[in-house]
Amino acid sequence: MRNYSRNLSSALLASVMIYLSMVPTSESWGKEGHYATCKIAQPLLSEEASAAVKKLLPDYAEGDLASLCSWADQVRFRYRWASPLHFIDTPDNKCTYIYSRDCHNPEGEEGMCVDGAIKNYTSQLGNYGCRATGANYNLTEALLFLSHFMGDIHQPLHVGFSTDEGGNTIKLHWYGRQNNLHHIWDTLIIETAMKDNYNNDLEEMIAAIQKNVTDSWSDEVPTWEKCSTNALACPKLYADESINLACNWAYKDADQNSVLEDDYFFSRLPIVETQLAKGGVRLAATLNRIFNST
Ligand SMILES: [Zn+2]
Repeated sequence: MRNYSRNLSSALLASVMIYLSMVPTSESWGKEGHYATCKIAQPLLSEEASAAVKKLLPDYAEGDLASLCSWADQVRFRYRWASPLHFIDTPDNKCTYIYSRDCHNPEGEEGMCVDGAIKNYTSQLGNYGCRATGANYNLTEALLFLSHFMGDIHQPLHVGFSTDEGGNTIKLHWYGRQNNLHHIWDTLIIETAMKDNYNNDLEEMIAAIQKNVTDSWSDEVPTWEKCSTNALACPKLYADESINLACNWAYKDADQNSVLEDDYFFSRLPIVETQLAKGGVRLAATLNRIFNST
C-alpha cells in the first residue's frame, strides 16, 4: 500500500513536471495579439494596398489578412532559420537597442532579428507589380512575415534581455497559476482583459481599441504612422520603444517567483492595448507606403 501510494505520488509529480515543462516558451504575441494587429490594420489600407493584399493572400484566406497573421508561428518548425526573426535579444539591463550589436542570429549573421526581417520583407514587397524582379520572391510569404513581425516588434518583451530570453525564464504566478513573464505579455494580459472587460470576445476588444484609434488617440496616430524621410518602414524606432517599455513596465516588479495580480494587470493593460493599436496602424502605414509607390 505504501509503495502504491509512493508510486502514485511520484506519477503525479511526474505529470506535474511534464505539465510545467509544457508551459509555452513562445515566439510571438499569442494568436489573439496577432489577429488584433492585422484586424486593426486592414481597414486602414489605401485602395492600392488593399487590392495588393487581397491579391497576395491565398484564396482560402478569403481576403482576411488577420486569419493568416499567425502563419509565421505555424511554420516555425519548417522554417527553422526564421526563428530568430521574431525578436531581438539586448544586453541585460542596458535598456537600449543597437542594430550592429543586437540584430543577429545565434551564429552572428547580421540582420537576422525582427528589425532586419521587417526591413527585408518590406523591400521584397517593393517588387510587387514588377515582373522582372517580383518573380524572384515569394511575395505572399513576404506579406505574411511582415504582418506578423510588425506585431511581434510591438510586444515589449520581444525586445528584451538575452539572459532571461525576453522574460521566458522568469517564472512567476499570474494570479493563482504558475507561468512565465513572456507568456503573460504574449497572451495572458490580453486574455484576462477579454474575460474581465469584453465578454470573452476578442472582436469586442478589437472594436474598443479601434474606437480609441479614431477617438481619444487620434491626435497621436499621425506621429505613430510617421517614418523618416523616404523610408518605407521604421522598425528601429519601434524596437527602441519596445525595449523602453520592457524596462519601465514589463520587467518592473516582475521578479522571479513574484505573484502578479490586479496592480500589475491594470497598470500594464493600457500599454498592451496601445501597442496592439500602434502595431496595426503602423502595419497599415507601411503597406500603404509600399504599395502606393509600386
Ligand atoms: Zn512571432
